[in-house]
Amino acid sequence: MPIYEYICMDCKQKFDALRSMKDADAPIRCNHCQGEHTSRVLSVFFAQSDGKALAGASNGGCASCSGGSCASCGH
Ligand SMILES: [Zn+2]
Repeated sequence: MPIYEYICMDCKQKFDALRSMKDADAPIRCNHCQGEHTSRVLSVFFAQSDGKALAGASNGGCASCSGGSCASCGH
């Protein structure tokens, strides 16, 4: 079964879920706050090569570094 990545609109947390393909876009509750305002992250393939860069970009963080924490560039 493939792993899908979701993001919660309420708490802005990402979480992974192991689901069958037919359930990939079915509603799912947030792992963190049990909120229902979640959506699937479609760029999971990019996350496999550089998950930290994806997390930084989707959070509107620093664009000049590839680190998720942005500790290296001070942002
Ligand atoms: Zn949440």
